[in-house]
Amino acid sequence: MPETSAAAASPPPTQLPESCPVHPERACIGTCKRCGVFLCVECRHPVESTRCHACVQVLQGNARPGLRGLMWLALLMLAGQPVLFFSVATTAQQAASGAGWRDIWANMDWLSATGYELLGSGVLALYGLILTPAYLMRRRWIPRQMQYFLVCNLVLRGVLVAVSRAMMLPPGQLETAVPNLMGSLLSGLLMTGVWMFYFAKSNDVKQTFVT
Ligand SMILES: [Zn+2]
Ligand SMILES: [Zn+2]
Repeated sequence: MPETSAAAASPPPTQLPESCPVHPERACIGTCKRCGVFLCVECRHPVESTRCHACVQVLQGNARPGLRGLMWLALLMLAGQPVLFFSVATTAQQAASGAGWRDIWANMDWLSATGYELLGSGVLALYGLILTPAYLMRRRWIPRQMQYFLVCNLVLRGVLVAVSRAMMLPPGQLETAVPNLMGSLLSGLLMTGVWMFYFAKSNDVKQTFVT
């Protein structure tokens, strides 16, 4: 019988009364492991039989679910932005045949494909740095901000860079490059759509970002 197991699980009976103080018609079978209140079969929680209803509610209310599954991937996407920026910057430096950072920054053609890429990555790195701690703290406004972030990512890294690259191609090469650019744009659009849907609709997300 569950009654006996519940009684055995509670601390050694410190003078249990015969009957429940709340339900005099029921036998007292133990005390709540958390608050120590006397329990009868009605007072104890049906699932967590060593605790009272109130304590189980408190414990469940305090237990926020942690980050799960895709949320870790999204966190990686946020926290990885500074790394991406660094790799873009390093590539730019190498393209300038190892000149010092200061020279590169001074002579950088910011209206070039690399310039757009650097600017975009810089903005996204900053955005990612700002959002990451709040993401870890599971702030309730994170799902909305993640959608903004995804749009920014698509515009800055997808559209702007693709368009600037296309503009800077020598004449005649555009036709051959267009299918590639369109392909990467479309895949970016698709990825963004899937992620936005996830952050807008997922119940997991709704239950996680609650503080
Ligand atoms: Zn209790
Ligand atoms: Zn009772």
